[in-house]
Amino acid sequence: MKEKIWLSSPHLTGEEQKYVTEAFETNWVAPLGPNVNGFEQDICNYTGAQFCSALSSGTAAIHLALILLDVAQEDEVLVSTFTFSATVNPIRYQKAIPVFVDSEKDTWNICPELLEKVIKDRIAKGKKPKALVLVHLYGMPSKMEEILHIAQYYDIPVVEDAAEALGSTYKGQAMGTFGEIGIYSFNGNKIITTSGGGALVSNNETYCKKATFLATQARDEAPHYQHSQIGYNYRMSNIVAGIGRGQMEVLDNRVAARRRHYEYYKNALKDIDAITFVEEPAGFYSNRWLTTILTNSFQTREKIRLALEKEGIESRPLWKPMHQQPVFETYPAYINGVSEDLFQRGLCLPSGSNLSAEDLNRITNKIKSLF
Ligand SMILES: *Cc1c(COP(=O)(O)O)cnc(C)c1O
Repeated sequence: MKEKIWLSSPHLTGEEQKYVTEAFETNWVAPLGPNVNGFEQDICNYTGAQFCSALSSGTAAIHLALILLDVAQEDEVLVSTFTFSATVNPIRYQKAIPVFVDSEKDTWNICPELLEKVIKDRIAKGKKPKALVLVHLYGMPSKMEEILHIAQYYDIPVVEDAAEALGSTYKGQAMGTFGEIGIYSFNGNKIITTSGGGALVSNNETYCKKATFLATQARDEAPHYQHSQIGYNYRMSNIVAGIGRGQMEVLDNRVAARRRHYEYYKNALKDIDAITFVEEPAGFYSNRWLTTILTNSFQTREKIRLALEKEGIESRPLWKPMHQQPVFETYPAYINGVSEDLFQRGLCLPSGSNLSAEDLNRITNKIKSLF
């Protein structure tokens, strides 16, 4: 039996253990310590963000971002519909209302023209959106210049869900550093991992200080336990942060490997008319977290997916849009057909940085054999 090929599995170097061992040896087995501080510094150095708060997950980071922007019950929050549910769930943790906005075809991310129409329509209906949460899906940057122009004009703060886009840049600047607040995820399937973890970044020191404060149970300064706000237990552990420090050392290698895989797929499948790839517009640099293909029909997509599955090769349809999810069906949605079409015809291919040349050859040969 051939070995199973996963969509995106963890890729450790061994260097992570140095930091984890250090944590054990110095007894920093707690949700604070030198690795947490070091990891935050590494993230700032890499992304150019001025401040960082290391947290227990990307979802926790989005939740805190919304709290920092005062998103509360009945507030409306604009959000990309083409994403993972973790982008949207925190909006509901705050009992706010997600307002879904569809994608555009160049990047598959939130459509700037539609975004402006939505903002105008919500204002005309009597409520200005409190925030915008946008996503750089599969590592591809969103059209930031257009989006920031609109967000600034209407004075709506931007949260960048860069969970999938650490290592991606737009006009040379790291994703996650354009909005008021950016978030990253270090879940097991992301471009680098801490097993589970996240971070909130901002150039506003108050936001990051407050994020850390809220993430550590909102303890006021006092010798006893004193609280004047609701707190959370969202801080990253010093053990987990040790894994992160080791992973940050190889982040650029991981991006390079995933980009090589994308190029390999594109080249190997170039003669199949039924398969196309999303290109990077000029100035966009994607970490190619996952290589995604667009096929000519739902049937072709399923034919490829099922054939790979039979071979022990994991692939997955693109994200099912949030406005089509039973749990979010009743919320306002501004839809142009792009995300629904992508969901029908798109497929994520195995993309882990630890895939071998032999793995890639096996996958592309199987796909080629179907045409
Ligand atoms: C993974 C992911 C998240 C959630 O991050 P966790 O660390 O798993 O909580 C949020 N948004 C997107 C787009 C993601 O891919």
